[in-house]
Amino acid sequence: MQQNISTYDFAGKKAIVRVDFNVPLNEQFQITDDTRMRAAVPTLKKVLEKGGSLIIMSHLGRPKGVTEKFSLKHILPHLEELLGQKVAFAADCQKADAEVAALKPGDVLVLENLRFYAEEEGKPRGLAEDATDEEKKAAKAAVKESQKAFVKKLASYADCYINDAFGTAHRAHASTALIAKYFPNDKMFGYIMEGEIKAIDRVLKTPEHPVTAIIGGAKVSSKIGIIEHLFDVVDNMIIGGGMVYTFIKAQGGKIGKSLCEDDQQELALNILKKAAEKGVKMYLSDEVLIADAFSNDANTRICKNSEIPDEWEGVDAAPSTIAEWEKVIMASKTILWNGPVGVFEIPAFAKGTNKIAEILARATSENGAFTLVGGGDSVAAVTQMGYAKKVSYVSTGGGAMLEYLEGIELPGIAAIRE
Ligand code: AMP
Repeated sequence: MQQNISTYDFAGKKAIVRVDFNVPLNEQFQITDDTRMRAAVPTLKKVLEKGGSLIIMSHLGRPKGVTEKFSLKHILPHLEELLGQKVAFAADCQKADAEVAALKPGDVLVLENLRFYAEEEGKPRGLAEDATDEEKKAAKAAVKESQKAFVKKLASYADCYINDAFGTAHRAHASTALIAKYFPNDKMFGYIMEGEIKAIDRVLKTPEHPVTAIIGGAKVSSKIGIIEHLFDVVDNMIIGGGMVYTFIKAQGGKIGKSLCEDDQQELALNILKKAAEKGVKMYLSDEVLIADAFSNDANTRICKNSEIPDEWEGVDAAPSTIAEWEKVIMASKTILWNGPVGVFEIPAFAKGTNKIAEILARATSENGAFTLVGGGDSVAAVTQMGYAKKVSYVSTGGGAMLEYLEGIELPGIAAIRE
């Protein structure tokens, strides 16, 4: 049975917690962005305050074996600072019995990077490039077999299991999903997981209407699952960014050199047809900013999205388009935003995306709208513009959020609920 972190009795218990401490490090192994670590503190402190001890496990980077660069020992000093106490370290996540035995209530132990072992992901490593299908199959079977002992060992350290790594919840890894079955009555979400699930469910399952989704980014092919799933929920869908030109070309428009997935044109037309059937109003960036080069000092012009000259390309939503969207957004009670509406990395083409961040902040404060922002560039935009605390929820889930929005049951969530 699933437990609740707020009411669970941690007194005298050892809690093994899967966190996402996959933070960026510079050449000197200093943390350059500690957002993920800070986000985990409420969950960690809850266990300690309630008289439990912590066994923290995470991955860092994509090591192919034991690699100094990806050691979690680099993050220990900062974790000690965040928790305000000493933190012990087990240099091998599979040989931590002594360190675990020494834990007293209020103590914290960090296990070394789980991905130093192939068993964490359950994917074989070191296969020869010319390995046959048979060899690949055998290697996969072998790692799946040894994964059982790996999971069992991790589970043996603790009395209860907390999953607070939403960023890896879409992966059925040892520490994110498989371990849960060893704690049938003592498994729960941490506060990050709880918050993410609640926020996305508020959009997908219990939204106040009108509901508007703003979907941007480069490719329609990567967002098709979300777009179609959202049709059951939204009243309005705003399409921005590079993906819009596939729709425009499919409708016979001239898009110049703009980004286009030619093989997705039929799909784009199908999306528009479905939207009409479902009564979803589509907004396709009517006027856009076009540029004659992909650089900050390129010449730019405003242009209708279907009349782009041959040597030019669409790079951002035009102010008139943003003004049209603003009306829709300000009339909405629930708003989801994923993906930039322009080439956000180039300052001259980031104005539309930044403006969306500002409008969302206003929709939240002025209209009491519920605003959910997710995806790398959209999150970067609200953060850089200083609006991260002014929207209702900023999802840090990345791929996990996208899959959840597509309606896929995430293994990390299912393992706790089952
Ligand atoms: P995604 O990862 O699919 O959300 O896409 C994000 C990327 O889309 C960013 O790197 C943006 O620069 C890119 N992008 C947004 N608008 C455009 C556009 N009009 N043309 C080319 N790339 C774009």
